[in-house]
Amino acid sequence: MENFYYKQPVPIDFGFGKLSRMPEILAQMNLDRGLLISAPSMVRAGIAQRVMEQSGGRIIGVFSDIQPNPTVLNTDACAAMLRKDKCTFAIALGGGSVMDCAKAACFVAGTPYSAADFLSGERKIDHAGIPLIAVPTTSGTASEVTTASVLTDTERGVKALLASDYLYPVYALVDPELTMTCPPRVTAASGFDVLAHSLEAYYGKKHQPLTDLAAERAATLVFDYLLTAYREPDNQEARAKMSEASVTAGLAFGITQTAAAHACSYPLTQDYGIPHGDACAFTLPSFWRLNSSEGPETERLQAFSKRLGFKDSAALADRMDMMKREMKLHTTLEEAGINSADLDDLVSKSFAPNMSNNPVEITKERLKSIYQNLSEK
Ligand SMILES: [Zn+2]
Repeated sequence: MENFYYKQPVPIDFGFGKLSRMPEILAQMNLDRGLLISAPSMVRAGIAQRVMEQSGGRIIGVFSDIQPNPTVLNTDACAAMLRKDKCTFAIALGGGSVMDCAKAACFVAGTPYSAADFLSGERKIDHAGIPLIAVPTTSGTASEVTTASVLTDTERGVKALLASDYLYPVYALVDPELTMTCPPRVTAASGFDVLAHSLEAYYGKKHQPLTDLAAERAATLVFDYLLTAYREPDNQEARAKMSEASVTAGLAFGITQTAAAHACSYPLTQDYGIPHGDACAFTLPSFWRLNSSEGPETERLQAFSKRLGFKDSAALADRMDMMKREMKLHTTLEEAGINSADLDDLVSKSFAPNMSNNPVEITKERLKSIYQNLSEK
């Protein structure tokens, strides 16, 4: 018998064109003075203004000064605007960066502090912030249903995770139509992020029956629809299935956390500028091969691969490599711009806490050889 605890408090409202329901949702929830937190690209496309206009005066402003890998400064500026305008709610309309910034800002706005104080661990997130409605525009991070916000403190040179039950959005409005304009390279990277969330949740040490269920469903959808979404950006079915995969993977890794491929992704993004999903994809097939050939999860991963229609777990890994090549993600050290002289530094920076969630123990020597195997030579 297996004991487990599962919690997911965010209502998920999913459907093509659902964004037009926003005014109704705001009225139902009695929210009447809000800030729309969005990305510059959403402002340029006129989507942010449309949401604001349709809100019937319930949204009083737009904040979009957010960079990819959002910073403490972005978050503090957003929190200052929430305070100044006396907002009683916020909407995050964007990808992972917008969502992460908005989740932290909604909490920080109710305090006299900077996001840096919470990121450093000096202060604790100990109460709910301003309610946030999360509307993702990419299929990737699933930040709309998780407790996590990843921020960068440029002053101290650290990228770190804020996580608290108080950071859950109060509502997730998932409208796949918003992902239709996603450029192929973003579709590719964020789609592989979904796959990394699924596979790492499935074999991660904290997996449990309900996260297994969500992880397997999400991975199945990625293998069935990601290449179509990449090849045919206008394919509504593929876009909708990838949105479903993203939020479903969130229901898994939001509980289990991620594992080794994500731990390795942080220095790849920070030091080599590789986008998050691409950085996770870089080592994901290697860790899948390792975890399905030794350690406690080999049988589960073989059975998983077969249920997904692969001959065995190696065939699933080969499929990932093939998808990465077609979608022009980084597949070798050379493509990623990593010199063999820098490998020791990269390895030593790869040991974030989630590294220890991997079912097979990863040592520095082991990780170095995983990287060396990714060399063309
Ligand atoms: Zn991720």
